[in-house]
Amino acid sequence: MTYAAFYQESIQDPQGFWAKEAQLIDWHKPYDQVLDHSKPPFAKWYVGGETNLCYNAVDRWLASQADQPALIAISTETNTEKTYSFAELHAEVQRMAAIMLGLGVKQGDRVLIYMPMIAEAAFAMLACARIGAVHSVVFGGFASKSLATRIDDAKPVLVISADAGMRGGKAVPYKPLLDEAITLAEYKPAHVLLVDRGLDTMQIEAGRDVDYAAARAQHMYAQVPVTWLESNAMSYVLYTSGTTGKPKGVQRDVGGYAVALASSMKHIFCGKPGETYFATSDIGWVVGHSYIVYGPLIAGMATIMYEGTPIRPDAGIWWSIVEKYKVTRMFSAPTAVRVLKKHPSELMRKYDLSSLKALYLAGEPLDETTSSWIANELGVSIIDNYWQTETGWPILTVAHGVEQTSTRLGSPGIAMYGYDVRIIDENTGAECAANEKGVVAIKGPLPPGCMQTVYGDDQRFVNTYWSNFSHEQLYSTFDWGIRDADGYYFILGRTDDVINVAGHRLGTREIEESISSHPQISEVAVVGVEDKLKGQVAVAFAILKKPELAETPEQKRALEAEVMSVVDKQLGAVARPSRVHFVSILPKTRSGKLLRRSIQAICEGREAGDLTTIEDPSSLQQIQAALKV
Ligand code: AMP
Repeated sequence: MTYAAFYQESIQDPQGFWAKEAQLIDWHKPYDQVLDHSKPPFAKWYVGGETNLCYNAVDRWLASQADQPALIAISTETNTEKTYSFAELHAEVQRMAAIMLGLGVKQGDRVLIYMPMIAEAAFAMLACARIGAVHSVVFGGFASKSLATRIDDAKPVLVISADAGMRGGKAVPYKPLLDEAITLAEYKPAHVLLVDRGLDTMQIEAGRDVDYAAARAQHMYAQVPVTWLESNAMSYVLYTSGTTGKPKGVQRDVGGYAVALASSMKHIFCGKPGETYFATSDIGWVVGHSYIVYGPLIAGMATIMYEGTPIRPDAGIWWSIVEKYKVTRMFSAPTAVRVLKKHPSELMRKYDLSSLKALYLAGEPLDETTSSWIANELGVSIIDNYWQTETGWPILTVAHGVEQTSTRLGSPGIAMYGYDVRIIDENTGAECAANEKGVVAIKGPLPPGCMQTVYGDDQRFVNTYWSNFSHEQLYSTFDWGIRDADGYYFILGRTDDVINVAGHRLGTREIEESISSHPQISEVAVVGVEDKLKGQVAVAFAILKKPELAETPEQKRALEAEVMSVVDKQLGAVARPSRVHFVSILPKTRSGKLLRRSIQAICEGREAGDLTTIEDPSSLQQIQAALKV
């Protein structure tokens, strides 16, 4: 079948198409209805069907490949490496599930996971899935305020964490940040389960904190049966940034997600049982959920969990892993490749990479230089893929499991099956012609695997994503894009205040709120500015309450460092702006709206754009002057 026919079938007969795809997973009870779209934009997939993500990822492989590798946990930070077979993973997940049940976790309860990239983090996610608890993984790079916001929104009965992570040879403590977050949060979780890696001493709160090793020892032979869940039960909540300062909880289902992952592993990632998949992301991001933990295991593949950087002990480390574990499919981000590009390529050539069939890159725009360089070094297909936390699996790429469609430099690809992608004129709501810039939108219903709603706030889901165009039921991705005459898309940046630093999605509003909490700051604007290595970096322009505090260059530098440390402490180093400039006025419209796009344009050396509504043009000169310092 050609991809064009495959795609057409998915759009014209979604029910028939997704009924076939549903056969890729095991169902405990068959569904009654493939799709219920009676209350758009809400889409319910596989209504009445019962299944379980953990069952599909672990248990169903026990009959055919119990002793084959399932989870390979590698840390170049602690120099440890351990392979768990499907049988061993099954046992560990049951132990973790038994601990959770013992701590009173029930079906539908939220469990917040704040952990480094260690095997126990995967056990925790799978154990939640097994007993029908809803996990909410928070990226380990986030600090106490970010964590507190998420605790208050998710209201977890249990938090699972560790003493510390490790990065670049240094321990990065988790427990003190978690303790501070719980102090800051209004909601108090009943228990905290802690994996003690021996990297940092922990202050234990009696009655609340539980030691994982001791609890595990009590449940060595635990047998915890799978809880069968209706397809539309909640599997997880993953927070992501948007236009407001308050992160959105992207809520996902069970059955639709399992089918979408099984289907994408087959048609897009071409994964086969017994092979090894290596995604270099983190469980705190959507790639970690879909393509470190669930996707590869659902496809019967071994998956690698990697703690460490791409260049330690040297820039050959990832390739040595590919050789050792005969990785066939690898998934990373353009930033990581740009980091590797700075190191001698002999480090890559030293290894036998013949097992590798393709490298998938996502999370941020893939520039042509990076793409051509890595394609040349590896000699395998480099496949860009564009998607979002909200969708859970690729919207644009090529599906080489269906047809060997060619890729095009600078384009993440063509529309994936199930996604009715449109380019919409922002003002008229009409569809753009080929090569015309518009907003990338998707006509509802979204395919299986995409977000069900914003956790706890259906109205926010409707208002945020489905109310941007007056005409049809259109989901906005908040990305600008164009489609060429052959159906290849090009992504041209966000339409909102979200920025993308090294593939990490951050809201400039959140950073602004954090900077504003510094007692000397009266107002601040944060914008994303193009960066050769990280794609974008955050740059802040702040107005001081007392301008005399930053008159000399020394004073400016000291204050800049102070502001940065506020962001570090509250949100985490990942959100730290690369520069904080001090100005006395910010560019605004006469109605008081910050002209962030003009600031961004000036920072990138472009024209400031339409300034007919600007209140005081001298504000732009201040931005220009500040950049020269
Ligand atoms: P996240 O939800 O963190 O995965 O971020 C999603 C956003 O990252 C998208 O809306 C895009 O702005 C950007 N993005 C993700 N993948 C790509 C890609 N392959 N090319 C260009 N931008 C991308």
